[in-house]
Parts: sequence; C-alpha cells; structure tokens
Amino acid sequence: MGLFTRRKTVMVDSDILVIGGGMGGCGATYESRYWGRDLKIVCVEKANIERSGAVAQGLYAINCYMGMQWNENRPEDHVRYARNDLMGLVREDLGYDIARHVDSTVHKFEEWGLPIMRDPETGRYQREGKWQIMIHGESYKPIVAEAARKAATEVYNRIMVTHLLMDKTRPNRVAGAIGFNVRNGNFYVFRAKAVIVAAGGASHIFKPRAVGEGMGRTWYAPWSSASAYALPILVGAKMTQMENRIVLTRFKDGYGPVGAYFLHLKTYTQNGYGQDYEPTWYESIKERVGDYVERHPVPTCLRNHALLEEVKAGRGPIRMVTKEAFKDPHKETVGWENFLGMTIGQAVVWASQNIDPKEINPELTTSEPYVMGSHATCSGAWASGPEDCAPSEYQWGYNRMMTVEGLFGAGDAIGGSAHKFSSGSFTEGRIAGKAAVKYVKDLGAEQPQLSEAEYEDLKKIVYKPLENYKVGRNEIVAGTVSPSYILPIHGLQRLEKIMDEYVGGIGAHYTTNEPLLTRGLELLGMLKEDLAHLGAEDLHQLQRAWELQHRVLASECVTQHTLFRTETRWPGYYYRADHPKLDDKDWHCFTLSRYDRDSGKWEMEKAPVYHIVD
Ligand SMILES: Cc1cc2nc3c(=O)[nH]c(=O)nc-3n(C[C@H](O)[C@H](O)[C@H](O)COP(=O)(O)OP(=O)(O)OC[C@H]3O[C@@H](n4cnc5c(N)ncnc54)[C@H](O)[C@@H]3O)c2cc1C
Repeated sequence: MGLFTRRKTVMVDSDILVIGGGMGGCGATYESRYWGRDLKIVCVEKANIERSGAVAQGLYAINCYMGMQWNENRPEDHVRYARNDLMGLVREDLGYDIARHVDSTVHKFEEWGLPIMRDPETGRYQREGKWQIMIHGESYKPIVAEAARKAATEVYNRIMVTHLLMDKTRPNRVAGAIGFNVRNGNFYVFRAKAVIVAAGGASHIFKPRAVGEGMGRTWYAPWSSASAYALPILVGAKMTQMENRIVLTRFKDGYGPVGAYFLHLKTYTQNGYGQDYEPTWYESIKERVGDYVERHPVPTCLRNHALLEEVKAGRGPIRMVTKEAFKDPHKETVGWENFLGMTIGQAVVWASQNIDPKEINPELTTSEPYVMGSHATCSGAWASGPEDCAPSEYQWGYNRMMTVEGLFGAGDAIGGSAHKFSSGSFTEGRIAGKAAVKYVKDLGAEQPQLSEAEYEDLKKIVYKPLENYKVGRNEIVAGTVSPSYILPIHGLQRLEKIMDEYVGGIGAHYTTNEPLLTRGLELLGMLKEDLAHLGAEDLHQLQRAWELQHRVLASECVTQHTLFRTETRWPGYYYRADHPKLDDKDWHCFTLSRYDRDSGKWEMEKAPVYHIVD
C-alpha cells in the first residue's frame, strides 16, 4: 500500500451529482439550481468545464432550434424529421419533450452572451438549414459553462469518474460515484441522492482512419470515452439502440463538415471519373429499405450508402465539386469560415495538401463509426419519459430516470432520441435536472447509504494499473512491451482492431454477420480478462486505462446489440450481410440490453416503438 499513502480520500456529500460538465451536464447543473435553491448540487468533470466535451473548440451552428416565435417549425415537425432520419425508430416522447423546450434554451444562450447571427432582412435568427441557426460560436462552451459554474455548489474539475456506487440498503438505487483526480491522484467518494450522467458518447472504439501519429484526428472528440454508457451499464441500467453507431461523410482527413457546403453553397459530389454516381445506386438501396429511400429528407445513413458502394466498386475517390461555387467570393468566404468556426484543422489539412477548393475539388470520405445519442443516431440508456406524453410502457419513474432508481441522464447518455445536438442536449440536461430535484425532494430526509467496503475495494481496483506498472516495469530494460502488463494504448489498439474487423468498421466496409460478431465477442472477452493487467506509468495513463475500460464495456454492448438485431436497419452506418434488408415486420422496435456484472452475461429484449405524432 506504500503506493497510496500520499493520496487523500476526499468525501463529498451532495443532493445531486452531475457527472460530465459538457452540454448536458451544464444544462442539468443550471436547472437543478433553479428548482432546488437549497440543494447541494455538484458537477464533476474529467477535464475543465470551461472547454470540455464535444463543443470544446466551439461551433458554427446550433443544430436544433424550432423557431416557434416566428412559426417556423413545431415540435411535432421535429419528431417527424428525427423519426424519418432514424428509419422509423425514435422515442417520440423524449424527442417531443426536448423540441418543445429547446427554443427557450437557445434564448438563454443569447441572453448569456452567445452571438447568434440574424437575417438582416427579417431580423430572425439566420438559418443554415431547416433546423440549424448560425452562431459566432468560438466561445459557446465557456458561455454555457459560466452559467453552470454559477449554479453549482461546487464544480470538481479534473476528476475522472470510474464507477457509480449503489445504495447498500436498497437494491437498484444509486448512491453516488467514485473517481480520482487526474492531476494529484486523490481519490474521491461522492455521495448523492440523485446522479445525472452526462458524460458524452464514444469515439475510438472502432479503428480510426488516421492511425499512429495521426490517431487523435477523428471526427468525434478523442476524449469522448464511453463513460456515459459504461457507468450505467455496470450498475445494471438498461441500454437501447447501441447497435445504431454513426458514420459521417466528411471532407477527407480533416473531417470538416459538409452540411453548409451542400445546403448553403449548393455544391455536389462526383466519383473519381467526374460522374454523378448517386442515381446508380438508387435501385440497390430501394431493394434493401423499400420506401424509406423516397422520404424527404433522405435519411443520413442512406446518403452514405451510395458513396460507400461507389468506392467499393473501385470508382473513387469521391469529390465535392467546389470549383464552381468558390468562384463567387461570398461563397468562398462562407466555405472557409465554416471551418474556422469549428474545424480549423480542415483548413490546415487543405493547406498542407495543396488543396485550394477554387482549383481542386476536395475528397470526401466516410468516418469510422462512433457511438452517440445526440447526433443523427440514438444509442444510450433506456429512460423513463415525460408524464404528459410518454406511453405508459415508457414510464416507470421520473422523467429521464434510467432503469436504476435515482440515476438520470442527458445528451449522448440517453438513447432513443436523436437530433438533440448541443442545444437539445443542454435542454435534456435541464429536463433531467428538474426531474432529479423532484426525486430528491420526494425522498425527504432519507440519506443514501454507501458501503465503505465497496468503495474501499474499488479504490484498490482503480489504482491497480499504477501498481502493475511499478512492479512489472522491473522486468524490462527498454521498450514498451512487458510480459506482465499491457499499456492502455496497446489495449486500445487491440479493441479498435476487434471492433473494426468483427463488428463492422472501415476495414470491413462496415459489414458484419453472426459468425463475425460471435467471434468478436469471444475476442472482447479475452481482452476484458487482460484488462486486469493494465499498466499505467502515471496519472495520465491511469486515466487512459479507465477510459479504455469504459470503451471496452460499451463496445461489448454495441456488439451484443448488433448481433441481436437480425436486419440491416441503417445501411450506410452498418450492414448485417446475413440479413441485408430492413425488416419492419420483426424489427420495427427498440433493442434493449441489461448487463449482469456478477455473471458477465447480457440479457437482450425488444421494446415497442409507439408513434405519438402522426
Ligand atoms: C464533431 C461534432 C460536431 C458537432 N457539431 C454540432 C453543431 O454544429 N451544432 C450543434 O448544435 N451540435 C453539434 N454537435 C453535437 C453536440 O456537440 C453534442 O450533441 C453535445 O455536445 C452532447 O452533449 P453531452 O453533454 O452529451 O456531451 P459532451 O458535451 O461531449 O460532454 C460530455 C462531458 O463529459 C465529460 N466526461 C466524460 N467522461 C467523464 C468521466 N468519466 N468523468 C467525468 N467527466 C467525464 C467530458 O469531458 C465532457 O465534458 C457536434 C458534435 C460533434 C462530435
């Protein structure tokens, strides 16, 4: 135990504990204070909420705004849109709940100082698309974080949460969480009456296109490490739609967004021979998904499909035709500014590869898959819906409460409700915060009971990689390969390879089948055994070790769900080669999983999809 003597154990009591200070977490912290003036509200974040999460480097647009004050859209319209984009399967109650409140969130952002562009003629917010409004968003995250900071009793930055704690007197009730400070190594035990998980989604579970020195260059933030899924999974919360990983068409190597190019600059795509290839694939996609291909707008996954097939047919690279649009100086400015607002790296990549979009049509490609719950995808925890509009089967407690009592979620953490984006995730945080306050008030004086034995045992497990390294490194004199431990980077690369080859990553053209998935699960099982031997040379690597643990568990969940759903619901995201078509008869439903941490077994079931909007 000599290793740990300098580390303090810090006990923190709270009424509401918010894990993750991104968009969902800031919303939850802010709203919890509004309804719970006298409550102790604590937000814990592994980075610093000032610049953390997927919005860290700023955004150019808020992608979810109804514009009800100008009769632009109704919440019902957004439900229809998200349902269509997700090939029929969304929790309409959750989506509706966000859509009806999201405008008020955006108005708050503006009040707090976020510059939102206005249409000079109408005075309304400048639209980029039907749902998107344009912002000067470099400081989006600090502005939102300031509101959360002022609302919280305390924000604990630089603490990586590794496990949730359960109440020792009441089964299936959450009682807090543990984590460690990534700078000084102190151990934290948080006791809470309600816990809101808002820890973002998961990148780097599938092998990325850029590896080696470029491996941090992914579309989705490399620090989004699946804690939002692993933490609830470990305590038995049900998860939904985890197979619904997302793949994005983006500018090659820099992952610059293409939306503004298509919508605003009216650019279009061609294959390597300058041909319009999309119509070629219409029949093939129709055969797979039937009428869904006729829907407007065409679902995001289907838009990837033609590009993927064209590349597979050997007619790449696919290019965005920018040469025409960039002749217009206004459009040229918009094209560049689009990156400067949120993906500066794309402009740098173009500069480094001698690409001037006025002279050369830049390449597009599809990303590796990511797991998220707030974009054009809806993986996450299965949550109770709003009292006034959720069907009874979707209600078992407070709004946004998972199937574990007192455990709430927001943003990427909550499944079934896509297209929340930054504003919707903050809104969902607000909804969860309000419900959590109600839960805490209903509990009254009842305090959650922690088991000291449980958190002391977990403490040993949390720091074990430091010990593994300290002991094991004596066996080697140079290099990074040891007979006694694996480093987090080695474990990560092994995970990415398994997911890529067996679960439908880029190397397998996003294709998998039952034998591959079954073998993938066996290999993931072996990887899990080896994680007991992770070695961490310092606190930074200890964080990497726990991020890897979370990624592996979430990956196992993704694989189980992919195996369970015997159809190809979202071609362009992934393909079950043994079930190549969409099957509405058997699979117009949600997939649910529950992990039993004692046996390590997964239980899978279906849940009905209710359409509450016509
Ligand atoms: C590349 C990209 C572009 C996007 N573009 C837009 C756009 O143009 N417009 C728009 O509106 N939306 C956009 N979005 C969507 C938006 O960013 C997300 O919907 C939103 O950030 C989700 O909120 P969240 O709270 O779930 O996750 P995040 O905002 O990512 O926050 C998660 C937080 O949890 C913390 N955390 C993670 N694990 C732990 C742990 N174990 N312990 C403690 N803390 C932890 C993280 O550090 C982070 O601060 C984009 C997303 C991406 C990835």
